Amino acid sequence: MSTFDPDTVVRPDIAAMEPYEPIVPFEVLSERLGRPAAEIVKLDANENVYGPSPGARAALAEAGTLHIYPDPEANALRDALAQYTGVSRERLLAGAGADELIDLVLRAILEPGDGVLNCPPSFGMYPFSTVVNRGKLIAVPRDPHFHPDLAGIEAAAERARAKVIFICSPNNPDGSVLGDEALRRLLRLPLLVILDEAYVEFSGGSRITWVREHENLVVLRTFSKWAGLAGLRVGYGAFPEWLMPHLWKIKQPYNVNVAAEVAARASLAERAWLEKKIAAIVAERERLERRLGNFTFLRPFPSRSNFVLCRVRGRDARELKRALELEGILVRYFAKPGLDNCIRISAGRPADTDRLLATLERLA
Ligand code: PMP
Repeated sequence: MSTFDPDTVVRPDIAAMEPYEPIVPFEVLSERLGRPAAEIVKLDANENVYGPSPGARAALAEAGTLHIYPDPEANALRDALAQYTGVSRERLLAGAGADELIDLVLRAILEPGDGVLNCPPSFGMYPFSTVVNRGKLIAVPRDPHFHPDLAGIEAAAERARAKVIFICSPNNPDGSVLGDEALRRLLRLPLLVILDEAYVEFSGGSRITWVREHENLVVLRTFSKWAGLAGLRVGYGAFPEWLMPHLWKIKQPYNVNVAAEVAARASLAERAWLEKKIAAIVAERERLERRLGNFTFLRPFPSRSNFVLCRVRGRDARELKRALELEGILVRYFAKPGLDNCIRISAGRPADTDRLLATLERLA
């Protein structure tokens, strides 16, 4: 009789895969730095420092159905989202963050080896979910200003017979926006275009209603950034009509939890409060862009989002990140192609910017 061999059980491509490196949990960092969480300025993950709206907090405190499974179709949320986005509820699907929906679409469409176009530097979950779903990643790098290489994308789409392209606007990590004409050009390609609008509330100009005219467009959105609900995990997407039945079939039935649904609906009902916070965050991002440019060792890139990417000049970005960390200020460091010697700083409260700028002056 043969014996059980664990080495033959896991898919070989998963066994060989590099793990995704999420950010270090807040409590762990607080302990490592020997500082209480309240003293740490957390500008490393593009979260919303103001957190949920008062109405969302109240709705969470009062939620009476936490012992009951959630509505698998998230109908109340999708009705509210239809009002908010102008896209009919039949075309909307909610998920445990936009992250889940990235995976869900790929699970529905990819066969092993199918091409997935990615335009790095961009969000790390596109390559991650591509690999997990056995897709073949085809990278068409952005130019030095982070504009997508449209001609390169067209050539690669044809050559590799790609099935899908991920495009993020405003793009994470630089904050640049894809223009309407560029998006139209991508939509003329014979593939599914997944437009990730996770940060669109900070730039304005969502193209979510374009799903009504383009049968190859998916638009992903989230409550993590503008509504301050990153910890609850709730996002949504607008999808082509032909794709919806398949997504419904393969979706985990209870993917959006009761607390997330309640808080998301309360957020949509309290837009004025959240919009004031968005305006405050955008003002802080603008101040960051202006002030960071005054440091000779930083070159900020123009951003339309809630963060600013900086190339570090004449010194080591990783060391700068570490030095800031020791002062209780967390920023994101990148060591990827196109992002060499870069840090990304999320926009926080005015006091967060003040502390960051004062610390940078000391470290200069
Ligand atoms: N898309 C982009 C571009 C992001 O930066 C993020 C969050 N880091 C997400 C999607 C995921 O959002 P969610 O929290 O809704 O999963």
